[in-house]
Order: sequence, then C-alpha cells, then structure tokens
Amino acid sequence: MLSQPFTLTHKDSKISYNIHYSVRKTISIEVSNSQQVIVKAPVATENKQIHSIIQKKADWIVKKLAYFKNITTNFTPKQYIDGEQHLYLGTSYPLKIDYSCVNSVGIINNLLHVTTSTITAYNIKQQLQSWYMQQAKLLFSDIFENNWRYFITIVKQNLIKPSFKIRNMKSRWGSCSTKNIVTLNSNLIKYPQDCIESVLMHEFCHLIHFNHSKEFYKLLTEVMPDWKHHEQNLNDLSRH
Ligand SMILES: [Zn+2]
Repeated sequence: MLSQPFTLTHKDSKISYNIHYSVRKTISIEVSNSQQVIVKAPVATENKQIHSIIQKKADWIVKKLAYFKNITTNFTPKQYIDGEQHLYLGTSYPLKIDYSCVNSVGIINNLLHVTTSTITAYNIKQQLQSWYMQQAKLLFSDIFENNWRYFITIVKQNLIKPSFKIRNMKSRWGSCSTKNIVTLNSNLIKYPQDCIESVLMHEFCHLIHFNHSKEFYKLLTEVMPDWKHHEQNLNDLSRH
C-alpha cells in the first residue's frame, strides 16, 4: 500500500516522499534515479516516526536527489550548443563553439573547445565523436598495458596477452572473444578511469571464466574489490 506524498522542508530543499507499507520489520528509505523518495515501512508505523527518520536522513536524501537530478540534466538529448555540458574522463566540460576555417577539438581553460567551419549540431557531433575516438586511441593502450600487468600478477596464471581493439559500439562497453581479443568501447573515454578499468578487468576475467559464474565474480572481486561501485557509476553516468 502506497501513501499519499508527504512533504518536508530541510534547509532550502523540499523533500517529498511516499510511504510504502508492507509486512516487514524495519524502515528503509530509497531514492530512485527518477528522483522519487520511497519509505518502506512496517504496516503499523506512525507517520510521526517516519517523519523524524526522514528528518535525520535529510542531508543524505538531498544529496542523492541532487546527484540524480544532475545525471538527468546531463542526459537530455544533446543539442551541441555553447555552454552545454559534455563529459571527458568523468569530468563535465561546457562546450565552446567558435567559427574557424580549421576544424579542431580540445580542452582549453576548462572548456571543451570546438572550432568548425560549419556550425551545425550534426557537424559538431561528428567532430566530437572523432575526437573521443582519437583520445581513446591515445589513452586506452596504456590503461590496457598497466591493468594487464596488474591482472597477471594477481591471478598468477600463464595467460597469453590478448590483442586489444577499440571500437565505437552501440550496446556494450567491452567484449572478450574466444580468439583472445579484448575490445573496449571508445565511448568509455567519457567516464572516469576507474570505470574504464572495471570494464577491462571484467573482460580479462573472461579469459579465465568464459561466463558470469560465481567463480567469475569471485575472481573479479579479487582483482578489483570495488568493481560493483564503478560499474554502478558507469551505468548511472551513461543512462539515457
Ligand atoms: Zn561479461
């Protein structure tokens, strides 16, 4: 049973929440990525008690809400206009577009600066995409080598180093083929290095376990204890 929304003001923020009553023993608060606050509570819990728990947890709730709001605004369809935020290695940069007869893309003074002879969303998108690919090609080999070295020292197995490919993929972050090829999605260059490394480690583990079995996740946790956090972060950042 879901209650009507309740509202509470905390500092400058308004928190609206619904209470979901069910057969359970404890009260829990969930903040969803659609910016809804749901309190799960035992059937006979008094509103007063829930209200005071929300008050105690208000800082955390406001922080979570802001986080999801930031993500959602980051993922409205891109328009490729001045000031629009674009990600590179996990940092968000405002776009700065200038007319020039020379096409270029680069990060200058904390701006993602695009110069172009044709200022259209389509052209700017194309230029950005090829720049992301270029950066991925520049940076991913080192990340691959370092993580591979780390991986084999931890697993202590005689593995043949896989060949490495970078591709612009639509539906996956990485892959590992039976032909000993590890592929990374060039779009990973938009996200924090930890996220890129967690995809690599995932694929490396497939060289030993070609499935998502318990053993696979045990190995992944051994080589990267906080993989879940990075995977979640990547999912959140790339949603929509
Ligand atoms: Zn997998």
